[in-house]
Amino acid sequence: MRIAVDCDDVLADSMPVFINYYNQHYNKKFAKSHFFTNLWWDVFNDEKDAVVARYLDFVKSEAFDVVKPIVGAQKALRLLKKNHELIVVTGRPKAILEKTKKWAEYYFPGIFNEIYCTDLHFSSGGGLDKGEICRSKKVDLLIDDYIEFAQECIEHNINVFLMNQPWNRREILPAGVTRVKSWREIANKLT
Ligand SMILES: [Mg+2]
Repeated sequence: MRIAVDCDDVLADSMPVFINYYNQHYNKKFAKSHFFTNLWWDVFNDEKDAVVARYLDFVKSEAFDVVKPIVGAQKALRLLKKNHELIVVTGRPKAILEKTKKWAEYYFPGIFNEIYCTDLHFSSGGGLDKGEICRSKKVDLLIDDYIEFAQECIEHNINVFLMNQPWNRREILPAGVTRVKSWREIANKLT
């Protein structure tokens, strides 16, 4: 199979680092469990544009460079690489594509054939449709943590594993979307 893997909160344990940065810089006390939605501005109770600008500051800063892989991802992906073709499709801004490539090559050497940023929130049109991109790249399965991207892929008959996270826990999943709780579980399903 050709499998597309999302980066933040699927490959990379980014959210705790972002929350820590946000709390320190803006004198807040948020925790990951507060994120009932992936619309961060609703959690922060702030303007979307302001939150997106703060996120861009964060990802361009050195604070972002301490992000580590999600537990189990490295081992599972080495296993999956034996039988599947793996690419990264992330909503990250294109401004940090090179940084993302370096990070992926450091923690996941030789695993991914391609890394693609869809620029969610950062380009004028609000970013590219992940389902469209996965279709054009002939992806069979997407692994992601955003229910919206799962729905975009389902429209193109691409199955999805939804990584369990606080912001998708309340969602009722459509056919073709399977909730997974760990990389170990993903590896078990695909090997
Ligand atoms: Mg993500």
